[in-house]
Amino acid sequence: MVSDCNDPLALAADLFCQDEMDINSIEESVNDILVAIGEDPSREGLVRTPQRVAKSYGELLSGYRMDPKELINEAIFDVAYDQMVIVRDIEFYSMCEHHMLPFMGRAHVAYIPSDKVIGLSKIPRIVDLFSKRLQVQERMTTQIADYLDVVLNPQGVAVVVEGLHMCMMLRGVKKHDARMTTSAMVGIFRADASTRNEFLDNISRGAERLHF
Ligand SMILES: [Zn+2]
Repeated sequence: MVSDCNDPLALAADLFCQDEMDINSIEESVNDILVAIGEDPSREGLVRTPQRVAKSYGELLSGYRMDPKELINEAIFDVAYDQMVIVRDIEFYSMCEHHMLPFMGRAHVAYIPSDKVIGLSKIPRIVDLFSKRLQVQERMTTQIADYLDVVLNPQGVAVVVEGLHMCMMLRGVKKHDARMTTSAMVGIFRADASTRNEFLDNISRGAERLHF
C-alpha cells in the first residue's frame, strides 16, 4: 500500500493509489474465460486456476501500487560526482497491454548527476515499478527515464530497453527472434551526441544477444 498518494514521488510514479487490486473479480473472470473456452473449470487441473492466475497478476502487475518512498528508502545521497553512472543488463518482465502476454528483456540506465546520486540497487527497483504493469515498451522506457529525472534532477538520463515480446513470438507473425529496442534520452544525453555515444558504446560492449 502506498503511504502517501500526494507525495511528489508517488504522483510522478503514476500509481493506482486509491484501490487495491480486486482479486475476487479476477478469479471470477478467469473462471468465465475457462467456461468460454469450452473447458470444465471443475476438473482437477483447473479447479484452482482462477486463484493461481489472480495471484500471479497480483505479482506481475504490482508496479501500480509500489510505495515509492519505500522503494527509494532514503537511498539518495549528496555527492560531488558529475561523471556518468551506468547500470546495464537489468532484467525485466512486463505484460504487453495489447494482448496481456509477457514481454521481457533487459534495460540499460545511465545518468549524469547534478549533485545527487541514488543507491545502485534502487535503479532495478525503478525498472520494476514501471515494468510490472500493463505496458507498451515505448512508454515503459520513457517512464523510467522521466522518473529518474524527477527523483535526481540530474544533468541527464538515458534509458535503452531491449525486449522480446511473447505476442510476436507465439502468435500472429511468429517472429521468434524479433527484438524490440527503445530508448529515451533526457537532458545532456539528448543535447550532446558524444555523451549519448559514450553510453551507447558502453552498453554495446560485450553485449550478448537477447534470448530466452
Ligand atoms: Zn502484444
